[in-house]
Amino acid sequence: MDEIAHVRLSSVVLPLRTPISDAKVLTGRQRPMTEVVFLFAEITTAGGHEGIGFSYSKRAGGPGQFAHAQEIAPVLIGEDPSDIGRLWTKLSWAGASVGRSGLATQAIAAFDVCLWDLKARRAGLSVAKLLGAHRDSVRTYNTSGGFLHTPVEQVIENAKASVASGIGGIKLKVGQPDWRTDIARVTAVREALGEDVPLMVDANQQWDRATAMRMGRVLEEFGLVWIEEPLDAYDAQGHADLARSLDTPIATGEMLTSVAEHVRLIDLGASDIVQPDAPRVGGITQFQKLAAYAEHRQLDLAPHFAMEIHLHLAAAYPLEPWVEHFDWLEPLFEESLVTNGGRMRVSERPGLGITLTGQARAWTVATAECGKLP
Ligand SMILES: [Mg+2]
Repeated sequence: MDEIAHVRLSSVVLPLRTPISDAKVLTGRQRPMTEVVFLFAEITTAGGHEGIGFSYSKRAGGPGQFAHAQEIAPVLIGEDPSDIGRLWTKLSWAGASVGRSGLATQAIAAFDVCLWDLKARRAGLSVAKLLGAHRDSVRTYNTSGGFLHTPVEQVIENAKASVASGIGGIKLKVGQPDWRTDIARVTAVREALGEDVPLMVDANQQWDRATAMRMGRVLEEFGLVWIEEPLDAYDAQGHADLARSLDTPIATGEMLTSVAEHVRLIDLGASDIVQPDAPRVGGITQFQKLAAYAEHRQLDLAPHFAMEIHLHLAAAYPLEPWVEHFDWLEPLFEESLVTNGGRMRVSERPGLGITLTGQARAWTVATAECGKLP
């Protein structure tokens, strides 16, 4: 039996080229986003095997995730890295008083993703293959180009460049104070791209129930792939009413921070497309439980953010999923993901297939370690 010998944690602050605004900024709930904070976990075993995993936070929470991870990391030393399910539970019990969702769970996610990467690397397989892949590429859509701070002419230019680069779908942010601005932007983009490009919109939770229903009806004519987060992330009943009333599929789930929270929404029929985020729900172990539950309900899957992880998980989902393309994380990793023909390819590199760049090391603001390198 191999055992975990050393754990290294890094807090990495990734600056964004432009401050990012979605509907939460336009309604005054949040400030524009200028950076994303990553929690990286790197594990080395006595036998010399290595893994890397990460979690992240936006706007606040980075130092909290790091501090929680630092406190619970020592319980991994000496453990068999293959016992990922048992280790998830052990990490959860180590911090049980702060609960099984939210920031505590997100800190555990960095370790969990790392252990899956380690196991897959040792097997010489991609994480997708280790889990049991259904495909070697996944439909992908672009989010980075359609934010609300971007003028519509630029959105169209971004969208065309994106499609030309092999990313099939285009997502636009909506939820502006004047709904006519949203419709004008969707109309302009649809006209510029034509009927064949898959188009989605994302309201980032900023509509009330009446507005969401009205907007959903107005948007039906655009043949959208989905309407994302039309309502507050925890308004399961409101989402369920929309999902039943509209032809356009409803997608939600990115804000939820545990499998239990997702199960509540799924049980109420709140979405046609579930959008879990592995770092937010506790890592790959928890994501897989949720994926099994969603598949049982014949729901579609479109994981949120972190394509470097979610590409593998989407490839292992039985129903044809989508993966969200964000170029923001590219400076962190030596490898880049390949897109063509509207699909993102799962690489044959073992594990997640990622290694940190020197730039990522340079953006590191805090590190902690426990155990001894072999
Ligand atoms: Mg979203």
